[in-house]
Amino acid sequence: HSSDMPSYSIASIPADGIGPEVIDAGITVLKALADTLETFRLDFTHYDWSSDTYKKTGEYIPDGGLDRLKKHDAILFGAVGSPDVPDHISLWGLRLAICQPLQQYANVRPTKVFRGTQSPLRNCAVGDLDWVIIRENSEGEYAGQGGRSHQGRPWEVSTEVAIFSRHAIERIMRFAFETAQQRPRKLLTVVTKSNAQRNGLVLWDEVAKAVAQDFPDVTVDKMLVDAMTTRMVLKPESLDTIVATNLHGDILSDLAAALAGSIGIAPTSNLDPTRQNPSMFEPIHGSAFDITGLGIANPVGTFWTVVEMLNWLGEKDAASKLLECVENVCEQGVLTRDLGGNATTKEVTEAVVAEIRKLG
Ligand code: ATP
Ligand code: MG
Repeated sequence: HSSDMPSYSIASIPADGIGPEVIDAGITVLKALADTLETFRLDFTHYDWSSDTYKKTGEYIPDGGLDRLKKHDAILFGAVGSPDVPDHISLWGLRLAICQPLQQYANVRPTKVFRGTQSPLRNCAVGDLDWVIIRENSEGEYAGQGGRSHQGRPWEVSTEVAIFSRHAIERIMRFAFETAQQRPRKLLTVVTKSNAQRNGLVLWDEVAKAVAQDFPDVTVDKMLVDAMTTRMVLKPESLDTIVATNLHGDILSDLAAALAGSIGIAPTSNLDPTRQNPSMFEPIHGSAFDITGLGIANPVGTFWTVVEMLNWLGEKDAASKLLECVENVCEQGVLTRDLGGNATTKEVTEAVVAEIRKLG
């Protein structure tokens, strides 16, 4: 009740498909948590930017939209993607149109197997998939550089140029080493493909080696991305913090989420580690039009997303309490279909709210 209670302004952008369903669940849970703990306050501003508004107005983000976003402490994002808008238009129109100007250069995806859920890996113990994948989020293979000539002709050619700058590699490496250093195992795996990609990824290796000098307590190992996929499946317990390029990180983190049980569980943080701009938090899954409107989307990915958001805002105690509540609900067997259960989004949300009330 005290007036000096910290207060955070959250922008919510539910966007497409199951985005509105899971964001609604996430906000319900956050409100219950703030209400019960009475240690912080949240207020939400909703932005209805989506593929529907794009189809009506020709733009995802209206004039001045980014400046409005910058005033918030954090952004909670649902999912973007619609069957009648090409994926590269929707992705660049909304998600990347926020990440890039707001300098959210670190994409962070934690994985773990929740109590009560199962990894598709045999003999996988709880804790074996306790990873953090850090993906370079500003350039690399997704720099958007390139072009097409002789479009539509049989002799058409195109280029898709990856950009690797010393500056961007160095800042993501520093962030990755700092993350690894804060975790008990202090182990960082640097993923590359510097045998085949002999320019950008050799620079990536060199910068990793240089930054490692400043973190003598962190153990570093280097993996080629192809070998990395097999190691994730066959020796998951040998990994902890992982850093990879934009493309490699994208692929490895989807694999990681599947190994942890479902892509409906895992969160993504798009961070500006300098904290000059708000960071953006979203579940890793997409808009999932095949289940949109059925009320069966797994909200756990969004619950873990809001946990990560609270952590970033400095509300670590509230964050760990909420994660514990979510894990308790999984353990009780209140699971959606993707996790082998038959609970609805609403039932899982209500079960988590009931756990939160017990904290009061
Ligand atoms: P995008 O192109 O935006 O990544 P997509 O439809 O290609 O979207 P996802 O949305 O990630 O891919 O969905 C892939 C599969 O996983 C779909 O069959 C979907 O039903 C399922 N899925 C995704 N998210 C969830 C969720 N939260 N709960 C249950 N199932 C999910
Ligand atoms: Mg997808």
